Amino acid sequence: MAKIGLSAGHGLYTPGKRTMRTLDHKQTREWWLNQRILVKVLEILKGYNVTVFRYDDPSGKRDIPLKERTTNANNDKLDFYLSIHHNGGANGSAASGTVMYKYPKSSTETNRLQPLLYKSIVKNTGLVGNRSTPLKSANFHEVRETRMPSLLLENGFMDSTVDVPIILSESHATKTAKGIADFLIKEFKLSKKEPKDYFIKGDKGQGVLQVQENLYELGYKLLVDGLYGDGMTSVVSQFQKDNSLEIDGVAGPNTQAKINEKIKEKKNEKKDYILPDGQYFRVITGSYNSRNNAQEMQDKLKGLGIDSFLSVYKK
Ligand SMILES: [Zn+2]
Repeated sequence: MAKIGLSAGHGLYTPGKRTMRTLDHKQTREWWLNQRILVKVLEILKGYNVTVFRYDDPSGKRDIPLKERTTNANNDKLDFYLSIHHNGGANGSAASGTVMYKYPKSSTETNRLQPLLYKSIVKNTGLVGNRSTPLKSANFHEVRETRMPSLLLENGFMDSTVDVPIILSESHATKTAKGIADFLIKEFKLSKKEPKDYFIKGDKGQGVLQVQENLYELGYKLLVDGLYGDGMTSVVSQFQKDNSLEIDGVAGPNTQAKINEKIKEKKNEKKDYILPDGQYFRVITGSYNSRNNAQEMQDKLKGLGIDSFLSVYKK
């Protein structure tokens, strides 16, 4: 199975690495922008047969040194390493665009992949900007020290009047992640996980419907429509929480096994209750003061193959 490494550049508290104050008063941290994309890529890849490693600190607290990141990546024997960053250097100008870096003496495979990843990202984001050389080489630690094909993405400028509003948006992060995932799926021939035992947000069909019906039967309130949307994601997360499973909102093999187990338990719970001799449960369907209405109900029951009798009942 392919092994992919992702690294969100820096840490939450790394000095300097943030958007320009005059363009974004919150001074959004670069690591936060980087990890938002990384997490979205992870989300998409959950539906594929691939092993993904992460080399930044998911909490952002620690800015993991570059040497530690690349040593770990080399030990993991990855097929590809991608470091996600946002650029600086526009100094409040309209300089704009996506830049893809490789090491100057990179392998033929990296040389081949560099334009492909760049194209896949800008095809989705449209953030071409005004870079004369969007495909660059630099002596950066991560692309130099990794022993597998590796690239470093600068996904727009944090001090550009043009790029800042774009890179702050959730949709830009989503599109970038899709561009990265599309590239990985194609170039590393990632196959989709067997849909029978793996459903993820965006999936639809008979299998999703079955999971929804089961969850509904277990008492969870959700739309039983065969579409795996936000509602189903939160219900699945709740089910996982209730059953001490890993909470990711994805109906994977473990979650589905647990759902099926619970359904089985529930069916066994439906035990019968027998009344003592001479006592009976009676099924009453309704009372009518019009004989015609009462007979109409009897006709309906007859249509269902159920015999009934009519009697006068006094309150
Ligand atoms: Zn950076």
